[in-house]
Amino acid sequence: MIKWTTLRTVILTMETEILVADLYNWKDASVTASALLKDGQVVALPSETVYGLAASIYEEEALDYIFEAKGRPSYDPLIVHIGEVSDLSKVAEISDELKPIVNLLTETFWPGPLTLVLPKKKEISNTITSGLDTVAVRLPENEILRETCKIAGPLAAPSANRFGSISPTSASAVFKELNGLIPLIVDGGASREGIESTIIKPSPAPAEGKKPIFTLLRPGATTREELRKIGKIEKPKPPKKDSTESIKVDAPGMLDSHYAPKTPLYLFNSFEEFKPEEGKKYGLFTLKGEDGMYFKKHAWDEVMTLSPGNGKTKEGAVRFFWAMRQLDEKGLDAIIAEPMNTANIGEAMMDRLRRAAVNC
Ligand code: AMP
Ligand code: MG
Repeated sequence: MIKWTTLRTVILTMETEILVADLYNWKDASVTASALLKDGQVVALPSETVYGLAASIYEEEALDYIFEAKGRPSYDPLIVHIGEVSDLSKVAEISDELKPIVNLLTETFWPGPLTLVLPKKKEISNTITSGLDTVAVRLPENEILRETCKIAGPLAAPSANRFGSISPTSASAVFKELNGLIPLIVDGGASREGIESTIIKPSPAPAEGKKPIFTLLRPGATTREELRKIGKIEKPKPPKKDSTESIKVDAPGMLDSHYAPKTPLYLFNSFEEFKPEEGKKYGLFTLKGEDGMYFKKHAWDEVMTLSPGNGKTKEGAVRFFWAMRQLDEKGLDAIIAEPMNTANIGEAMMDRLRRAAVNC
């Protein structure tokens, strides 16, 4: 294990290797990544949501380094990833009251993009939970990540980007964000979902025969429609006006400005709100393209269409962060985003657009 002080100087000259994990060698890629993780290093791994920057939950210096490499504030807790459901007992303390609903959720949605906020085991580092008495945990569907969790996990892993910037859905996007800061990126191809996990805090049913309650902390790739089949969804308590403490307790890390490109992004309800300035370059971020509300209403310098023609939100989600990155690299003065339908995974995309937008 390299000591943190030495690691700091080492990282500036660190070679970041990209290891392509294909159909034949993906288990070997997991073994390589696991060896580094067990040695207390931080590596980037693919997942079905977005790429993650992973460290063993038992390696305190590596956990600290995740925050350092990302420039992430310490009040924003990390999600713990496990390799099998039985590993849940390594991180969470689940009461008899909560057990039936946790079982129902894990049987229905795991492996998959649903994160559960549960009472933590006391051994779980405060670095992971930002001092909260709960821990966020998920069993990922991505085989490479799951296998690595089985060998070297549980793993704490936020998205593998600098804090506040666009989430990475490919190894090349991670490389642009973290080249020189980590020894390894495992390239597992494009993320299948393309949007972060949904985060809920489950509570037992309030009475016999009633549905359990899920507090929705972050909309994501598991949809409200899917969750509603087994529970009642509630909003988190509104934050108290005067403190950052309340952000920490109710929805830590859910900052108003996040997931943002460097180019200013505007989200308008109607095209009429857009007042282009002479000589400025504008790019359109649209779900459907030609059938969209804004398309053809302006001579756009660039158009990025997430799901041409049909405007399928599921397809749009896969391309969402990738497309935002593409537009961000075109030297535009502003990106104009069309609003999207909030059904299914559209809810998570609109959430990310609002946080990315400078006018929302
Ligand atoms: P990400 O940066 O995508 O890995 O997401 C991590 C997010 O999970 C944080 O920003 C929080 O919003 C949420 N989270 C993690 N741990 C907790 C927790 N104990 N309670 C509530 N939310 C949490
Ligand atoms: Mg993130």
